[in-house]
Amino acid sequence: MAKYNVTLIPGDGVGQEITEAAKLVIQATGVKIEWEEVVAGSTAFQKYGELLPKSVLDSIRRNKVALKGPITTPIGTGFRSVNVSLRKELDLYASVRPTQTWQGLDGRFRDVDIVVFRENTEDLYAGVEYVQGSNEAKKIIEMSAGKIRENSAISIKPISAFCTERIVDAAFKYAKLNGRKLVTATTKANIMKCTDGLFYETARKVAFKYPEIDYNEKLIDNMCMQLVQYPEEYDVIVLPNLYGDIISDLCAGIVGGLGMAPGANIGEIGAVFEPVHGSAPDIQGQDKVNPVAMILSAALMLDYLGENTAGDKVRKAVAEVIKEGKSITADIGGIAGTQEMASVIAAKL
Ligand code: NAD
Repeated sequence: MAKYNVTLIPGDGVGQEITEAAKLVIQATGVKIEWEEVVAGSTAFQKYGELLPKSVLDSIRRNKVALKGPITTPIGTGFRSVNVSLRKELDLYASVRPTQTWQGLDGRFRDVDIVVFRENTEDLYAGVEYVQGSNEAKKIIEMSAGKIRENSAISIKPISAFCTERIVDAAFKYAKLNGRKLVTATTKANIMKCTDGLFYETARKVAFKYPEIDYNEKLIDNMCMQLVQYPEEYDVIVLPNLYGDIISDLCAGIVGGLGMAPGANIGEIGAVFEPVHGSAPDIQGQDKVNPVAMILSAALMLDYLGENTAGDKVRKAVAEVIKEGKSITADIGGIAGTQEMASVIAAKL
């Protein structure tokens, strides 16, 4: 049986608890993994004075696959987000986030099965920002011919045809491989005509290559309302970075919250699998965090490694435990702790 080398980044906050849970479940599938544990985020900062040590990037480049817990990003300080840096450094351009409704969870919705493809490397996340009063900001204000107020801070939103083409193509390829019927591109192109306009223009060209899959477009504001009213009508959604970030959380809310939302960041050189949620410091160390988002991210990792049967078994075990409702965490209506839920899922395997 094959043995895989995988980088493990426990991360901050609840990271340790959920990565332990995911490891337990993977072990129960019988798939053999040699974990190479590295630290990033606050833990790395305390140890090495760096948030994203080179050893983390080297390890992922070597193993090509990583399982990652969430990392805390200090707000409004000089630190760049470790998550954004990691995705950019490794050019993990496709953020893939499946969300589905689960039997046993009393949500308002039925039959939701959406996969979000979020562009991961550009848009307002490019980190091209200028503080109020800087020479760059002043220059841009001058160029804006009165459209920008004096003394503004400025953020630049780059959207390229290259990055749009590869994310939209990834969405269509996924749709084709997985028997999906519809890809919806979402932007605010009625207002941001150049940047979001280019996203649509490029998406239409890609759609043309996949005549067997329907393509449509929805403006982001309308999309939010549509998803809250009729989420079951959507299939694969492809968006620029910021809208993708927001819509991912919205989709998570529709199917039971952040504890149920897994994710993958995929590029040409490899992939990093992580839940959509953050480090949840408010529930850290309390055995309260729902491990499912991380366990389902690990299942996506098993698929990526070619261990689809094991991935399917994990999803089936999660579905059974949720349906039974006895060993689920508080965020989805139960009283079980993180450890108990993970152990019961592992036992099903
Ligand atoms: P968050 O996702 O950490 O938490 C939002 C709320 O959801 C909290 O009340 C939390 O307790 C709850 N929650 C999240 N995941 C849960 C789970 N699995 N089970 C039960 N409840 C859960 O978002 P935040 O509070 O805005 O961010 C905290 C930190 O995480 C910030 O520093 C942020 O930058 C970072 N963050 C990291 C990532 C990542 O590493 N990919 C993603 C998002 C946010």
